[in-house]
Amino acid sequence: MKAVFGIVGLGVMGKSLSRNMASKGFRLALFNRYVQDKEEAVAENFIREFPELEDALGFEDLASFAQSLERPRKILLMVQAGSATDQTIDALRPYLEAGDILIDGGNAFFKDTESRISDLKEAGIHFMGTGVSGGEAGALNGPSIMPGGDAAAYEKISPFLEQIAAKDINGKPCCTYIGSGGSGHFVKMVHNGIEYAEMQLIAELYALLRWGTQLNPDEIADIFEPWLSGPANSYLLEITVSILRKTEGETFLIDLILDQAANKGTGSWTSIVASDLGVAIPTITAALFARFQSAFKAERVQYASQFPMHPEMLEVDVKELLDAYQLARFLNHQQGFVLMQQAAIQFEWQLNLSELARIWTNGCIIRSQMMRDISHVFSESQLLLAHPLAWHTLDAGKEALLALVGKGLAAQIPLPCFSASANYMLMAFQEDSSANLIQAQRDFFGAHTYQRVDDPSGKKYHTNW
Ligand code: NAP
Repeated sequence: MKAVFGIVGLGVMGKSLSRNMASKGFRLALFNRYVQDKEEAVAENFIREFPELEDALGFEDLASFAQSLERPRKILLMVQAGSATDQTIDALRPYLEAGDILIDGGNAFFKDTESRISDLKEAGIHFMGTGVSGGEAGALNGPSIMPGGDAAAYEKISPFLEQIAAKDINGKPCCTYIGSGGSGHFVKMVHNGIEYAEMQLIAELYALLRWGTQLNPDEIADIFEPWLSGPANSYLLEITVSILRKTEGETFLIDLILDQAANKGTGSWTSIVASDLGVAIPTITAALFARFQSAFKAERVQYASQFPMHPEMLEVDVKELLDAYQLARFLNHQQGFVLMQQAAIQFEWQLNLSELARIWTNGCIIRSQMMRDISHVFSESQLLLAHPLAWHTLDAGKEALLALVGKGLAAQIPLPCFSASANYMLMAFQEDSSANLIQAQRDFFGAHTYQRVDDPSGKKYHTNW
């Protein structure tokens, strides 16, 4: 009997997704490459390890793997993005036929996905660029899945993907067709950008409390934990509480972890693409740059020994902290969603932002109560900041955010994401800005021209300054 679905790449994600899918009763064909003395009989050994894989077939040659699958073949690639993905597609292609569907579940750059779609289209092979979020546990128990590409091909793979996806609060799968082209990988990229800023905002709260009030990690967890029962509930805050409470002997584990944040590229892509599209995402970019700056540990140690900054004690009001945090988060989400709206216009994708937010309410790393609220907002309006929910968040958090940034910076505690959010808010709601001076300067040195407020025709003026 043939297998109904194939998975290539049995790393962290591939293994968990295989177990998830097998546990739903699908007969799988599993492939991992053979590398002498390193990667041998990976699929067979894996199948032997888990009873739910009893019916699965294991391979390390692609011809037999492809032959074992019913047609049209449906194959999920879970390999590293970039050249590993290209090598895998090239190796698999001779064994594929028109109508087959390749699903790339890795974190590929959306433009690479678009090239792969058009390369494979000639042979009638569908390529679905599919974002998968939730990490190892999500992959095993139900991830959020963002498939993009050919809509008709999606219909053929949806019974599999929707079965293994997480379920939202109403029991609907956290998997929906995103749109054509590379839109699935684009929204996954933005998801990760929002994730960077969500993480950094929590890290900044931690910094304020740790250095500004001298609370220990456990006491900081005591402040965050009650927030989990209210509108600030999120997966990332939840894991932070667990992280802060973790000890190794007498020491908090967090104090033993080197403060150099790594990244795998999706945050950089988000900032680069936002720049290409002319969309301001300062909170997300601040989170990315904070990671970059953290990486220069040796320099920081040297500079601190020469010219130390001395964090000062702060009066912290927990309610103010929470309100500022919620507003900064809202502004982070606003930036990510505007980026997707602009991309939809530019690339002619029909993105349904309410549905998109809905599939991010469970399974994925940025699941939160706020994401549920945002899904509701987009079902009523396409302008997040013009919705009453935004006004409510602004009313509650505006003074708190500005006060927090002012006090925190004065106390010499860096707050890149909170500051970026505060400036974003001030600029977003500023009727008259100083950009007229920028236009005058551009015209002065470069004759770039400007428009006049007393001439609504849009005519371009140049002054001989
Ligand atoms: P991983 O544990 O490193 O596994 C990568 C898999 O790709 C392994 O099976 C590896 O085979 C295979 N592979 C690598 N180079 C290959 C090549 N040239 N030809 C054939 N196979 C090759 O990675 P992962 O964490 O599962 O991630 C897989 C993809 O999912 C990545 O694109 C990642 O960005 C994305 N993703 C990861 C997460 C996460 O939380 N980990 C979440 C969402 C998305 P060998 O074992 O033989 O080396």
